Amino acid sequence: MKLFHNIRKLYTPLGSIVLSGVAMDGMHEIEDAAILVRDDGTIEEVGPASSFIPHPSSFSIDCRGLVALPGFVDSHTHCVFAGERSQEAAMRAEGRSYQEIAAMGGGIRSSVEQVRSASVEEIVAYSKPFVKRALDLGTTTMEVKSGYGLSTSDERKLLGAAARLGIETAMEVVITYLGAHAVPRGKSQSEYVDEIVNEQLPALHGLAEFCDVFMDEGYFTREETIRICTRAKELGMKIKLHADELAETDGAHTAVQLGTYSADHLLKISEEGIRALAASERTVATLLPITALSLRAPYAPARKLIDAGCAVAIATDCNPGSAMSENMQLAMSLAVFGMQMTPAEALTAATLNGAAALDRAKTHGSLERNKLADFVLYDIPRLDYLPYHVGVSDIVSVVKRGKIVSGEKL
Ligand SMILES: [Zn+2]
Repeated sequence: MKLFHNIRKLYTPLGSIVLSGVAMDGMHEIEDAAILVRDDGTIEEVGPASSFIPHPSSFSIDCRGLVALPGFVDSHTHCVFAGERSQEAAMRAEGRSYQEIAAMGGGIRSSVEQVRSASVEEIVAYSKPFVKRALDLGTTTMEVKSGYGLSTSDERKLLGAAARLGIETAMEVVITYLGAHAVPRGKSQSEYVDEIVNEQLPALHGLAEFCDVFMDEGYFTREETIRICTRAKELGMKIKLHADELAETDGAHTAVQLGTYSADHLLKISEEGIRALAASERTVATLLPITALSLRAPYAPARKLIDAGCAVAIATDCNPGSAMSENMQLAMSLAVFGMQMTPAEALTAATLNGAAALDRAKTHGSLERNKLADFVLYDIPRLDYLPYHVGVSDIVSVVKRGKIVSGEKL
């Protein structure tokens, strides 16, 4: 066993289920903490150092008075791609909309062309630095979606590349199939939905844990979404949805009806959608403030969602079009300064609630007995400092399953 001691302060949400409403603000704080980690990378004990009886066989690591927080669980990324699209950011600066840029040949379809002409090796080589930087920035579990292939063979290539990102880095990667990201050129909407249901899902469901659909104006309708998700569930997959991002299309309500683990974006969520999410025990409202910032859109109504009793997670949405960032701390800063969340709510949203959005709240997202020893050591005075120090990392070391995987060795 390993004993991480001399942790000046440790902050963690508590629980093995998602936290909603006022519970999101409840942060457990331990002064002069220690974490005893088993050889399998799970936590034997966490608490004040004074409560630990020295174990003769345990190896001890001095954390030098740093502050420990759970590793971030980034529950929404598209971090497997083959090229960047920075010119679109300049087009948005000129006032062009996401849909206009897509109509001019940019958008998701241009990432599709990049992926289709790349090999798995090239995709892994392009994406791996993003995943490694995410780890350096304190993310220890990351969801990665396909969705830039849009054919059975190209989606298979992306799902294989996503798996390799998890094998070739210390990041724990959770894989989502997003064949329903856009309709590829040369196919009608109905032809493509048929292809997803009859070809892609039967061929690819074993390569991903979750199935996601971009349900929105100009993408997939409520009926198409229900059809795709029903098929995915029959094949044993768990469901997530991109919902109410560009327009209100009954996305949040549909997500709850389908029993999804999360409804993501929600920039345009209706009052009815908020009520549906508040009443749901499973569906997490996953907000992506870096995307709102990059699209120059108003932020999702986080305060309203939390005050209504919803469970809110935050994630990066890391993707080459609308959110080129793998930085969860930045997402926390935007949650606090752009969406009026408290630092404690933002940390719960970035850890335990992100884990719940990935069906991992029992094992990930908080520092408690029997959960994974995934934590990050910061040179900061207190939790509030983390979102306050905008865009700058004070991380000293990142620990995944009890092993230091980034930063100083201590
Ligand atoms: Zn997305």
